[in-house]
Amino acid sequence: MPQSPIYLDHQSTTPMDPRVLEVMLPYFTKIYGNPSSRNHVFGWEAAEGVDEAKEKCAQLIGAHPSELIFTSGATESINLALKGILLNQPEKNHIITCATEHSAVLDTCASLEALGYPVTYLPVNEHGLICLEELEAAIRADTGLICIHFANNETGAVQPITKIGELSRAKNIPFFSDATQAVGKIPVSVKQGGVDLVCFSGHKMYGPKGIGILYKRKNISLKAQLEGGRQQAGFRSGTLNVPGIIGLGEACAISRLEMSEEASRLSEWRDELEQELMRLGGVHQNGPTDTRLPHCSNLYIEGVSGEAFILSLGSKLAFSQGAACSSVTRQLSHVLLAMQKSPEIIESSFRFSLGRFNTKYEINEAKEQLKSAILSHRIHQGYSF
Ligand code: PLP
Repeated sequence: MPQSPIYLDHQSTTPMDPRVLEVMLPYFTKIYGNPSSRNHVFGWEAAEGVDEAKEKCAQLIGAHPSELIFTSGATESINLALKGILLNQPEKNHIITCATEHSAVLDTCASLEALGYPVTYLPVNEHGLICLEELEAAIRADTGLICIHFANNETGAVQPITKIGELSRAKNIPFFSDATQAVGKIPVSVKQGGVDLVCFSGHKMYGPKGIGILYKRKNISLKAQLEGGRQQAGFRSGTLNVPGIIGLGEACAISRLEMSEEASRLSEWRDELEQELMRLGGVHQNGPTDTRLPHCSNLYIEGVSGEAFILSLGSKLAFSQGAACSSVTRQLSHVLLAMQKSPEIIESSFRFSLGRFNTKYEINEAKEQLKSAILSHRIHQGYSF
């Protein structure tokens, strides 16, 4: 069997940690009860597993377990947060968000906009960060929600969450942060951040796909988006995905213990990778150098162009242009466009994201493969530096 390429696309999804799989397995075949079944041991055992997992998820973000709602992933959590808040308070219907949000936020905002909800899309600076003064200036008497992501999925840029939280608290406006790329990678605490709602997703943090969380501070009211059996205090009807919840709980527990060591190891390797490529000349980092995720690098590489470069390395390395360039629509990255990057720069920009199971050997191999591919593409393009 041919060897798999080295996986450097952990912001797209992560492999599940075998330790997570191990704790999940009994919940498929042995502890298969419905946690809402109150009258027998099958239900009790499942409910006990769910409670323990919930506690682990809550601990990772400094929340109380009763403030967590399990969903099918970040997309559902985002829909629930945005629609759940806005549809619940028609008199406060203005949303402030930002131009570099994930499409799950932007598309949900667009559909609310179509219903008559005014939306302000804050611009970002050349590093992808919002300006607090601009945020403050955008606040209106009818502002009902501030929605700014924690960390960007293309550049890893980490927004000034604590400051945004302080401002939203001072203005008494709920603050929702999509922390899908941040939770489990850097500290995210609902105690410090001043955030009222936070979402994240199992498959971005070595847990299973199809499970996510919406954290909702106790005093925040929310309109449920699914009708049904009124599970989870009615906020999200539907039988709980018990194996997924167990897996997410374990993924959270592992991240809590290992996050800091993992972050320093991956950021060291990421920096080495960047420095090695930058030594070639004509290689530039997109996004902030200091306030960014430890495992992520977004590089503009002069003299190589998008898809051809990725495909030429396809048997050796798996990386991407982020959500930058869908091969079907060939849309340019809205994130890099918002950072005032030209279409030429965007076309030659790539996202490399390292992960838990990468080895030093793999990163060294990736450096060599990338260097030789860059040099040969440049020769082909007649690019000289
Ligand atoms: N938000 C961000 C920042 C993401 O990176 C992603 C996934 O790419 C999502 C939301 C959607 O997550 P999910 O796949 O769990 O629906």
